Amino acid sequence: MSALAPWQLRVHDRAAAALDAGRLGHGLLLCGPPRLGKREVAERLAARVLCEDTGSGMAPCGQCRSCRLIAARSQLDPPEVRPDGSPAHPWGHPAHPDLLLVGHAWNHKARPPRMRTEIVIDQVRALGEQMALTPQYGRAKVAIIDPGEAVNTAAANALLKTLEEPVPGRYLWIVASEPARLPATIRSRCQKLEFRLPPRAEAREWLLGQGHAEADVDEALEATRGHPGQAHAWMREGVLELRREVARGLADAGAGRAAVPELAQAWTADANGPLRLQLAADLALAQASANLTDPARTRSLAEWFDRANKARDLLQSTVRADLVVVELLLAWRAVHARPG
Ligand SMILES: [Zn+2]
Repeated sequence: MSALAPWQLRVHDRAAAALDAGRLGHGLLLCGPPRLGKREVAERLAARVLCEDTGSGMAPCGQCRSCRLIAARSQLDPPEVRPDGSPAHPWGHPAHPDLLLVGHAWNHKARPPRMRTEIVIDQVRALGEQMALTPQYGRAKVAIIDPGEAVNTAAANALLKTLEEPVPGRYLWIVASEPARLPATIRSRCQKLEFRLPPRAEAREWLLGQGHAEADVDEALEATRGHPGQAHAWMREGVLELRREVARGLADAGAGRAAVPELAQAWTADANGPLRLQLAADLALAQASANLTDPARTRSLAEWFDRANKARDLLQSTVRADLVVVELLLAWRAVHARPG
């Protein structure tokens, strides 16, 4: 089992202590910003609940049949990929019969079959039936629903029934980045376990421990406003590099050094067009907040921010994406053109 990050460990230990003291209720809501590792913590807690070595203290033993089954599942990551490129099992296969995972599922009735965007009532009903059965390994049953926001209204009503009729040894954990989108009736029946962004120094140290270069870490933390999980992903996935490219492009376009049509072509030549515009919008916002002494400039940067976001939406539907970006970059040049 991989080590939890310090901010994960804090939340985990609090829940584990409540669990050991018998104070952890049936329903639990793990919430907080995305990419802080909420589901990892849920799975670690599940491993603890299901571990057959009751003498192992704070952590799951990692050796028993239960622990090995939970670990085995992760060997299927990255998930299988279907011909259309989408993952067949976004979570991998649940290898432990008493650990039930509910997430985005395939709609096989659709032609062609596609991944559902919502968690539907059939999934929640099937979960309720599973939860009513005796645990196969005799200890407990844990269900993790992720992302909780994807539960649609009908499914939420069914879920409420499960939450209202708790059975001993059954745990229902909901992972949500936007808990406000869950019905209040569900939220009120769950104990809340909140994840927060860690202090900057802690985030920095953790990122350095992941093997990232110091300069990258500082830049990535600045760009993500101190979010270690996002910074980590940005450095691994090349987004930080892309952000630098966008910043250079904006600087050149603003100063009149770059030919706008060529830059627009470069920005829309691959699948990263929408991401570039998102990064550009974000850079505009950063410039606006650094320029508060010049209200006119702040206002025009804010307007450009809106414009960039609208253009990003347009990129999905238009044939000539480069023309959308040409207009956007010309507007950027106008914002930065010195009067007189
Ligand atoms: Zn174990």
